[in-house]
Amino acid sequence: MPVGTQATVKGLSQRDLWDDLQARIILGNTYHLFLRPGHELIRQLGGLHRFMSWPGALLTDSGGYQVFSLSGLRKITDEGVTFQSHLNGDTHKFTPASTVDVQLAFGSDIMMVLDECPEYPVSREYARVSMDRTIRWAGEAFSHYRERMQSVPTRNALFPIIQGSMFPDLRRECTSRLLDLDADGYAIGGLSVGEPRPLSMEMVEASVPELPRDRPRYAMGVGMPDELPEYVARGIDMMDCVLPTRNARNGWLFTSEGRVVIKHAQYRDDPGPLDPACDCYTCRNYSRAYLRHLFQAGEILFASLATRHNLQRYLDIMGAIRQSILLGEFPRYLRDLQSRSTFRNGVTAKEPSGGIE
Ligand SMILES: [Zn+2]
Repeated sequence: MPVGTQATVKGLSQRDLWDDLQARIILGNTYHLFLRPGHELIRQLGGLHRFMSWPGALLTDSGGYQVFSLSGLRKITDEGVTFQSHLNGDTHKFTPASTVDVQLAFGSDIMMVLDECPEYPVSREYARVSMDRTIRWAGEAFSHYRERMQSVPTRNALFPIIQGSMFPDLRRECTSRLLDLDADGYAIGGLSVGEPRPLSMEMVEASVPELPRDRPRYAMGVGMPDELPEYVARGIDMMDCVLPTRNARNGWLFTSEGRVVIKHAQYRDDPGPLDPACDCYTCRNYSRAYLRHLFQAGEILFASLATRHNLQRYLDIMGAIRQSILLGEFPRYLRDLQSRSTFRNGVTAKEPSGGIE
């Protein structure tokens, strides 16, 4: 799912996303949209779909992650989290019920419960306290949600979030306790917080087996292109990440032949397409030399062309995975990929990938 933090996937129009890239679901961030322009204004203007003219599905997070990562001053209590806006310092409070109300005002198709996403590493003691709070908050969010849904004419899903830091037994416990909610889908949070990649996979492996097979499983804030099939192999259906879009704007491009850092001098006079195997608008029409020129000159068009390509690359990978599953060839697809990939070298991602877009 492409990330559209401020009700826009930076650098692209909704037509680019819907018609050209054929994205069918994108993400919005509750924290940002709550602070600006505000959920009441968005509700008055017909909800987020109409406000941003998006014909597809919308998933919004609860805002918790950004409160913990962006807001300077915050105080967590059993009722919720009080925080200061990073924009103007105003004080606000999110509770499990209030974040459901904010997301219902947006009209999100998939809403997320308020959770606490602990940083990495944390002590086992804190991980447990935090996990217990996340489970209690999920229960409160669901009570409020079920009450609200009786008077809301649309169907909006609410997903609880599995936490437990990097402790497999806490992850398992969290999963089994959240199953009581009988939710439409389940998310795994607290990944991409600076942990080594094999550890993220281990936490997914601890969480997934107990989840119902007929409900979507969503790994939040992952991953690199070669990690996507690894998550799918572990039973994940949905992922979101700022990497394809943020890296695009920084001139870091994902291709079928590996990454291209467009500012490198080797592309100065390179007449070839960015990725010969890619069918996106950028690769069909422009050379690496032109893209490098746009990047070096700081032109706006670069962000747009680069973002189109990187998102196409991610959506192509997911398309290929879906196709291979339908044909019964996913295990072979995965083996081929692993034999070519650097995935299992245990490298820690330099920056958390789930942050602000
Ligand atoms: Zn392309």
